[in-house]
Order: sequence, then structure tokens, then C-alpha cells
Amino acid sequence: MNHPSSKRTKLLTIAFGLLLGFMLGTNVTSSAHTASTHIPKVWEADPYYYLGNIDSPLNGLAAKTSIHAGADPWIANSGTWLDFINSGYQDESVHWTGAACTTGSGTAVWILTESISSLGSEITCATSTLITRSIFLLDDTRSDWYVESSSTVPSDKYDLRFVIVHEFGHAGGFAMHWEGDGEEDCTGSDRETMCSGLPKGTSYKRSIEEHEDHTFDSAY
Ligand SMILES: [Zn+2]
Ligand SMILES: [Zn+2]
Repeated sequence: MNHPSSKRTKLLTIAFGLLLGFMLGTNVTSSAHTASTHIPKVWEADPYYYLGNIDSPLNGLAAKTSIHAGADPWIANSGTWLDFINSGYQDESVHWTGAACTTGSGTAVWILTESISSLGSEITCATSTLITRSIFLLDDTRSDWYVESSSTVPSDKYDLRFVIVHEFGHAGGFAMHWEGDGEEDCTGSDRETMCSGLPKGTSYKRSIEEHEDHTFDSAY
């Protein structure tokens, strides 16, 4: 990643969390998307990511494989600007909620399971300009996850791979969803990956799309 030297200046660290509920349909309105609007904070270096406390029904091999696969589209499209580095598993004591930005350690992405009211959510910890940590929480209380690699998703299931790709988008700095932006299509199979919500029984999007790609490219 290349950053102007000013971005490396140590600023007064004010850690804060930005909770982005995946299924909550939060709308962000702006006239046109720009990197600074949609990705206001960036990583200073390629972040490591860890699977922390992963409980049933997401602790099997298929689910864990799908979680790792969710990082792949960003890595594949990143060129030199941002890679998520697979750093394996951490022990079960790694389990942060609430004060997640001020407990534990590590400039990294942590993927955990928790009882939450949405499929997944992402917490971004940052200084005024730099992302310092990201935590994914995946709901481990639901029975309607689809965790397999096949893109044929049963009509009564939610595709884990899609959710993970989406949350890695937030982890990379997307502090928004596309709805309200006025440019992106968030309907049907043409939807961008950073649109909110996910219809059951679909595997779109397990990829990153045009608008995520060029917005990331200009942010990094
Ligand atoms: Zn989201
Ligand atoms: Zn665009």
C-alpha cells in the first residue's frame, strides 16, 4: 500500500467503534460516491486476519473454508493495494464484544461468532485516519446458514460466503452500504456486494463488483 507521509503521522489516538449491522438496512445518502466518502479510513499496512472463537454451526471445515474464501475476492482484485493475510486460528479465549476496540491486542481482523440479531456485523476500530482493528461477529444461534462451496443455495438458507465477502468489504474500510448513493444497483442479481441485506437462496455476490473495485482502488 502507498500512503502519503501525512497519513503516517501519529495522531492523537481516539479509538472508537463503528457498528455496521449487516441486516439493519442502514442507508447512507450522498450525491456521488468517492473514496473519501465511502472509505474514510484505511489500513496503514496489509492486515492479518484470524479466526477466533468460532462456535457451532460455523466451526466445521466447510464453514471455515467458506470464511477464508470470503477474503479471496478482495485479495485477487487488490493488486498491490490491500491484502488480507490469513493467520490461522487463535484459541477460544479470544472473544471480544462490547469494548472490543480497547481490549485484547493486535492490529488485525478478528472473526468470531456471537449471538447477534443479524447474520453478521462488523466493528471497525480506528484513529482519526487509520483503521487499527476490525472484528466480525457472525450469528451462531441461527439454523439457516448455508456454509458449502456450491453456489446452489437452498431457498431457505443464507449464503455464508456472501456474508463474509461483504464483511471483508467493511473491514477494508467501507463505512457504508450503497443504498442511497444514487449510482449503484442494489436490486436483484445485479446488486453490488456492499449493498445491505441478502435474499435467502442466492449466492450473489461472492465477488466484488465494479463500484467496490474502483472505490477501493482510489482509497488505497
Ligand atoms: Zn454491511
Ligand atoms: Zn462507481
